Amino acid sequence: MPLRHVALSTLALAALIAGHVHAEGYALRTVQPGDTLGGIASLYGLPVDALLQANQTTSALVHPGDTIRIPLGEATGGRADPAPEPPPGFGRHVLAAGETISGVTERYGIALDDLVGANPDLSSLDRLPVGVELLIPPGPGLLVTWSYDLDLRALLAEHQADPVEVLRANRIHSPGDLQPGMLVWLPGVEPTTALERLARVREMENRYVWPVHGRITSYYGRRNLGMGTSNFHRGIDVAAPTGTPIVASRSGTVSFAGWSGSYGYLVRVRHAGGDETWYAHQSQILVSVGEYVSQNEIIGRVGSTGLSTGPHIHFEIRRNGTALDPLGELN
Ligand SMILES: [Zn+2]
Repeated sequence: MPLRHVALSTLALAALIAGHVHAEGYALRTVQPGDTLGGIASLYGLPVDALLQANQTTSALVHPGDTIRIPLGEATGGRADPAPEPPPGFGRHVLAAGETISGVTERYGIALDDLVGANPDLSSLDRLPVGVELLIPPGPGLLVTWSYDLDLRALLAEHQADPVEVLRANRIHSPGDLQPGMLVWLPGVEPTTALERLARVREMENRYVWPVHGRITSYYGRRNLGMGTSNFHRGIDVAAPTGTPIVASRSGTVSFAGWSGSYGYLVRVRHAGGDETWYAHQSQILVSVGEYVSQNEIIGRVGSTGLSTGPHIHFEIRRNGTALDPLGELN
């Protein structure tokens, strides 16, 4: 049966994955910073075992830039690179080093919602790797990948979108011109689902975790040093044995790694949005400047270097250059 004769309401064919589909029955996906094998598996509705088997490995460790195989037979969603052609009127932007999503929206004079509408399958707004390609939409709307299990009629009704307008925006003459895998632009339709998901992702990504667990030996704030003197403690001190691993409190890029006077061996990590975390008095530094670190990745080891009376970490969170009380950010 020719594709053009399939009715719009035809549902529930096998999951369609647009992009790089191989004869052996798998799609390719490039691992992004922050991806885990478990996360990828759940994204595609697959058991982790199926991914391990498809990639002929027993290790669940993946690294940004790795290409992994997504077995098609069992996949239920997701899309592999590269993306198909967008409808007329779209631009493309390749994310450069140091560029943020808000920088991109400013540059093209579009709203964040518009950008999300044109790229509703982004895994994150803040952790996109350099080189990722973004579609720049001509205005507000939602870009969907056409497939048989997409109920376009219901979608249009839900958003009170005009079908004639949709045909015109995509320069097609009839719904029969729609092909599986084709990107279809729905002008004026709000990307509600993607916005809600990305807001949840952002909230998770902006959360700080404890870099080291142990006993808090000094809190943030003014502290009395005796003899009528005091100073302001810009972080918290957590005591732990020398050599205890220190993990990144949140993912980001290492902005400093080395000796820094009273801080001793210090690592600073810069996060999306501009916050910085500082990890001081380390016995050993395990990262270097410019390196991307994931949340919970080991960046160094507890020590007593610099101005310190015993093995502990001095931990700061800085926003716009000002140190905050870390306890207000840690759960
Ligand atoms: Zn301290």
